[in-house]
Amino acid sequence: MKLLVTGGAGYVGSVCTAHLLDGGHDVTVLDDLTTGHRDAVPAGASFVEGDVAAAAADVLAEGFDGVLHFAARSLVGESVVDPAKYWHGNVVTSIALLDAIRAHRVPRLVFSSTAATYGEPESTPITEDSPTRPTNPYGATKLAIDHAITSYAVASDRALGAVSLRYFNVAGAHGDVGERHATETHLIPLVLQVAAGTREQVSIYGDDWPTPDGTCVRDYIHVDDLADAHLRALDHAPPGEHLICNLGNGTGFSVLEVIEACRRVTGHPIPAAVAPRRAGDPAVLVASAARAHERLGWSPARGDLDGIVADAWAFARGGVSA
Ligand code: UDP
Repeated sequence: MKLLVTGGAGYVGSVCTAHLLDGGHDVTVLDDLTTGHRDAVPAGASFVEGDVAAAAADVLAEGFDGVLHFAARSLVGESVVDPAKYWHGNVVTSIALLDAIRAHRVPRLVFSSTAATYGEPESTPITEDSPTRPTNPYGATKLAIDHAITSYAVASDRALGAVSLRYFNVAGAHGDVGERHATETHLIPLVLQVAAGTREQVSIYGDDWPTPDGTCVRDYIHVDDLADAHLRALDHAPPGEHLICNLGNGTGFSVLEVIEACRRVTGHPIPAAVAPRRAGDPAVLVASAARAHERLGWSPARGDLDGIVADAWAFARGGVSA
C-alpha cells in the first residue's frame, strides 16, 4: 500500500515506519521535526518536512491507500501548563488531516490514541467500553480526536475506515530506532539513564499506593508489538466504521518491579529514592486487549519485561537489539 505516516520521525512513528517498510509498503513520512529526529526516519521512506495541518492536503493529493497518524504533542505535564499547544497541535491539526483525507478519499486511517483517554479507571483491566474521563488536556485532546474520527468515518459516504489504537505504556526499541525524547519523563528510559551513568538516581513517585508493593502499576508493551498491531489495523480498518482497540500486555508491573528488571538486565545497582506522588497518576493502569485480539488477530509476542528492558538498554547504549 502507499501510506502516509505523520510523525514518522518520532519514537513510535519511526518504529512503525520500519515495520511498514519491512512489510513491503511504500511509505512517506510527514513530520515537522519539532520533537522528532530526521535520522530516526528509516532509510527507504520518503520524507517531507512540514507541518501536518499545512502540508497534508498537498501530500495526499498524490493518492494514498492509508494514513497512520502519530504526529502529536504528548507530554501530560506540559498539556496542563500550555493547553493551547495541545488543542491546536493535536485537535486542530488532526481535523485538518481528516479534511484532507476526506477530500482525497483516502480509505484507511490508523490513529495513535492513548490510555490517557480513560483517566482514573473504575476497574481494571480497562476495556474500550470503560468511561472516558481524561484527567489532563493531553488525554482530552486525544479523546476529542477519537470523537472526530468517528464522525468522519460514519459520514454519509462511508468512504473511510478507521482504527484508533489506545496505547498503554510503550517501551523497548526496534534495533537502532528507539525512544529519544528531549524531555524524558518515562520510567524505563529514566531508570536506564541511571544505569548509563547520566543520572544519579531514579525517583519513585510514591510508595503508599493501594498496590501490592505500594508503587504504581502500569502495563508495558513492546514497541514492536505495537507496530505489529498497526499493520493489522491497516488490513482490518472497517469501511464506514471507527474501531477502537486498547493495546497492552494485560499484565501490570509496579515501579519497583521495573527498577528490579533494569537492575537484572544492566547489572547496575540503580539507586532509587521514594519521592512524593506525581499529580494525576492513577494507581493502576492495565489494559484489556481482548478486542485487539478478537478484531485484529493481535496478541503481544514480546511481553516479557526483561526482554522489553533489554531492547531499550541496547538502544540506550547505541547498540542493536536482537
Ligand atoms: N515514575 C516514577 N519515577 C519516574 C518516572 C515515572 O516513579 O521518574 C512512575 C510514574 O509515577 C508511573 C510509572 O512510573 O506510575 C510510569 O510512568 P511513565 O511516565 O513512564 O508513564 P505513564 O504511566 O505516566 O504514562
